[in-house]
Amino acid sequence: MKQRPRIVVLGSLVFDFVARAPRLPRLGETLLGDFFGMFPGGKGANQAVQAGRLGAEVFMIGRVGQDFLGEQLLTSLRASGVTTEFVREDTAVKTAACCIHVDAQGQNAIVIVPEANLACGREDVDAAAKVIRSADVLVCQLEIPVATVAYAVALAAEQRRTVILNPAPAQPLPESILACVTVLTPIDTEAEVLTGCPVKQPGHGEPDFCASLSKAAAQLLGSGVENVIITLGEQGAYLRTKEREQHYPAFPVTPVDTTAAGDAFNGALAVALGEGKSMDEAIRFANAAGALSTTRAGAQPSMARRDALEAFRKTLAPS
Ligand code: ADP
Repeated sequence: MKQRPRIVVLGSLVFDFVARAPRLPRLGETLLGDFFGMFPGGKGANQAVQAGRLGAEVFMIGRVGQDFLGEQLLTSLRASGVTTEFVREDTAVKTAACCIHVDAQGQNAIVIVPEANLACGREDVDAAAKVIRSADVLVCQLEIPVATVAYAVALAAEQRRTVILNPAPAQPLPESILACVTVLTPIDTEAEVLTGCPVKQPGHGEPDFCASLSKAAAQLLGSGVENVIITLGEQGAYLRTKEREQHYPAFPVTPVDTTAAGDAFNGALAVALGEGKSMDEAIRFANAAGALSTTRAGAQPSMARRDALEAFRKTLAPS
């Protein structure tokens, strides 16, 4: 088993501003809030932070502006052991920012301004081609231009690298991308957007739900994906390959904030697969990371370190 896998994450870096008030403001209204926080985020950066905290050698590829927010994002990555040599500080654009309004019930209204993430292009992939070619795992999401993702996954697939694509936010993808993907990790609603197959939520009847997951996953396998893992929040995760399908129950926790549970899952999955763990073992490890992240507030602050995750796995078995 590999001690310290090389994980390359290509994706977004976003700085989140969170303001909470008793309710969401109406059009034209100014409200007094009771909490304000500033947090480093973006799916790419979150997944890189999770992989770094679990002990992998992690390289992040992406873009920020040459500004205060970009500096904060880079500092957060480095504090988790992530190499930021391939995050370009672009003077022509601003760092991506996200304004989140939250009400007392936890409902939110969000505006994301992607800025530098949209400028992440082939040249960023080319600059990091050497580490992609030698990576144990390449991890991508869809918060940067899909053409950049397509270019990177093709490069990794050419070298027979393991490619994890977390297709979020969801959009239909060409087979040329899917055929390069070793593990696709949509949530149920993303699987629906990718396939056009309705994926019914639990509550519509268990057999219906399983059948709809199975059908959507089969369609994705037909497009050339090797493994489809549909993450199901408090229901855990579902795997389908050409040979088999299996459900992995979630670890029983009392969540305080489910933000970035999927990012914890993907970061941990990359590390486990990079270490050479079996798919079963890797999904159980990722389920534990996802569950543990829900017990802490925030995105990057909720990503566990290796010792905490191992201790959590020992004390809690999946429900
Ligand atoms: P996302 O955060 O992208 O919406 P999910 O909600 O599917 O993705 O969560 C990803 C993973 O995190 C799940 O597969 C599961 O392992 C874990 N997880 C999420 N919510 C919970 C929960 N309430 N209890 C236990 N595990 C959870």
